[in-house]
Amino acid sequence: MPKTLEVVCTRNDCDLDMFELHYQYSMPDGTGVEAFSCPYCGESGGLEEIHV
Ligand SMILES: [Zn+2]
Repeated sequence: MPKTLEVVCTRNDCDLDMFELHYQYSMPDGTGVEAFSCPYCGESGGLEEIHV
């Protein structure tokens, strides 16, 4: 099943609060939040997966 990740950007200068990543079936196993970059500040290092 595709999974959903809740992601936050931890960079202090970024106003992004939270967003969701909805995985497609075709995503390789093991693909995590580190494969993405923040849509707001464009940085990949600040993203952090949260578990709700
Ligand atoms: Zn950001």
